Amino acid sequence: MINKPIIYVLLIGAVLVIGYWLLSGQVVKTSPTTLEQPHALISQPAQQANSSTAQVCNGQPTASLTEGPYYKNGSPKRTNIVDPGVPGEKITIKGLVLDSDCLPIENAWLDFWQTDGEGVYDNQGFKLRGHQYTNEIGEYILETVIPGEYPGRTPHIHVKVRAGENSQVVTSQLFLPTDRNDSDSIFDPSLVVIMSDDRKTANFNFVVPR
Ligand code: FE
Repeated sequence: MINKPIIYVLLIGAVLVIGYWLLSGQVVKTSPTTLEQPHALISQPAQQANSSTAQVCNGQPTASLTEGPYYKNGSPKRTNIVDPGVPGEKITIKGLVLDSDCLPIENAWLDFWQTDGEGVYDNQGFKLRGHQYTNEIGEYILETVIPGEYPGRTPHIHVKVRAGENSQVVTSQLFLPTDRNDSDSIFDPSLVVIMSDDRKTANFNFVVPR
């Protein structure tokens, strides 16, 4: 016969072992989903653009920048905003829309507008204008042309981004890596896309409030 004190010791031991197992299991469960998973997702579009130019998320919100005078409501829903005959060197910009925890946002709204390769906006129609929504892993893709310069401005792509219908709209501009940027008074270096060497693809991740 086993005496009672030994049974109590064994029971307490079993409770401690099971408790430790449950607690350590939780730690393993929570940290990869909140911290590691977003980084795994971030590498995906970056790899498609150029594996050596991955842009990581540090949770810093995307800087806001002036809207300018040429925004138009009602842009068509499309990821390719290059209509036939539009002058300019083609480029594909990809990236993620993330929240401040670096978690990807599905169905985030983005609205882009820009000049053609000669620095001209289409203010009559919707050339080089279009809105879209991120896919299930928070990705957007924009097929466009490298914008030209117009007086006083370095090449830039205007954008509005919003996580969801009731979220704050972030109005900003993307820049390309060019020497011209420093002479633009509103240029912000945190808004420069990472461009591949052949200038055909670029990467930029947005961080916006939920
Ligand atoms: Fe502009």
